[in-house]
Amino acid sequence: MLNLTNISTAYGAIPVLRNVSLAVPQGSITCLLGSNGAGKTTVIRTILGLVQPLAGEITFLTQRLNSLPTDEIVKRGIAVVPEGRRVFPKMTVEDNLLIGACNITDQQKVRQGLARVLTLFPRLAERRRQNAGTMSGGEQQMLAMARALMSYPKIMLLDEPSLGLAPLLVNEIFKTIGQINQEGITILLIEQNGFKALEMAHQAYLLQKGTVVMECTEADPQAKQKIAEVYLKQH
Ligand code: ATP
Repeated sequence: MLNLTNISTAYGAIPVLRNVSLAVPQGSITCLLGSNGAGKTTVIRTILGLVQPLAGEITFLTQRLNSLPTDEIVKRGIAVVPEGRRVFPKMTVEDNLLIGACNITDQQKVRQGLARVLTLFPRLAERRRQNAGTMSGGEQQMLAMARALMSYPKIMLLDEPSLGLAPLLVNEIFKTIGQINQEGITILLIEQNGFKALEMAHQAYLLQKGTVVMECTEADPQAKQKIAEVYLKQH
């Protein structure tokens, strides 16, 4: 569904991604693991056209994304849940959610979307008139995920959704990611919390210093075990 082929990027003169190739099959949870600074967020920024690749190709549903403006890329059905949630703190939960639907003109679809995410996230329903900035980190993470769902995405790119959350909340967030995937939404999950992410992923890639050093696809589940051993030994 989403394919990166031999992508290389740099910030100024500093190379970041080197020949990164990864494939996210439709319906999958594909996990991209890596330590701080490995280049995980840069992968997301490159998919979104916020960083231009120096070489390589990105395709989504067989169409080339390279050089398209970010709004065009997003309109094709790609939604991002950014690192650090980035909710609008002085706006209510409901208004934050409606921002996620700003590309949808059919108001009935917007209302249906709102009802759907409030069912999936009952805690947001209880707090829909509350300012987003007054909520806990876990609740804000749920809001960021719900906001992304409001655009009816085909794929969601999640950048470290468990970062800074207490273990119980981490479990809840991962459970919700599983539910979203069950609804048919493809997931690219970027994580440092390797154990949990690997447990639920259908396939995984390990990024080190901007290079994919290990990968496992659904066809080769044993490789997942090897990635777990290598990654978890390092963390
Ligand atoms: P983290 O988990 O810390 O977010 P990451 O794996 O997502 O790490 P990136 O944020 O993609 O890593 O960063 C990869 C490298 O690029 C790092 O060395 C980082 O310092 C550098 N970098 C990131 N953004 C910029 C920028 N805007 N300008 C210059 N260098 C950058």
